[in-house]
Amino acid sequence: MLVLNIREDYHIHCNYNDHSSIDLTVENVIKKAKELNLQTIAFTEHVRKTSDWTEKYLDEINLFKGKVSFNVLPGFEAKILGDGTIDCPDSYLNDKYFIIASFHTKYINKIQWYGALLKAIQNENVNVIGHLAPEPEFSLTTQEIRNLGEEIVSNNKLIEINAKYNRPPLELLKTFKELGINFHLGSDAHSLMEIGNYNRIKNLINYIEQSKG
Ligand SMILES: [Zn+2]
Ligand SMILES: [Zn+2]
Repeated sequence: MLVLNIREDYHIHCNYNDHSSIDLTVENVIKKAKELNLQTIAFTEHVRKTSDWTEKYLDEINLFKGKVSFNVLPGFEAKILGDGTIDCPDSYLNDKYFIIASFHTKYINKIQWYGALLKAIQNENVNVIGHLAPEPEFSLTTQEIRNLGEEIVSNNKLIEINAKYNRPPLELLKTFKELGINFHLGSDAHSLMEIGNYNRIKNLINYIEQSKG
């Protein structure tokens, strides 16, 4: 049986962006993770190629991670651009950083969306696809979902079960599960109380963990 580890959180923001709680500092995130007895956390602040705060952010993570015994991964959540490239400085696209690639722009155009997604899945520096779901304006055929799943498997990518957006939708999870894709949990926390909190996705967790799909 597949079991998701609820003591891991692979998607946590902090106050380097402009829309998270002020008290979501790197130090407070680490304190909260310790209180919750988490085993692994990933800092995945929103990045752009032009971000100028990234070195300060990474230094801060490095400083505090040295003080705790659980795993603290430095990383970024980067946007999947229309051409399938990732909006992240090249210097962080390597195995030292945990990279979530997510859609944050609506393309309305399914062909463009699908092509960009495939390219992100094939990007060797991307670890996981964040909060994956088709845009509300279009849906995927069974065959398209299966092709995506096969691409995820052959590129050894993880799929995140995202608590903020309650994604991916069940029709994707069903196929992904059949194909043996690896999943992990991400709260997508923008405040301290959201860290490691998976109450909103109990249905998805149960679905993945039940033995028959
Ligand atoms: Zn996101
Ligand atoms: Zn996020």
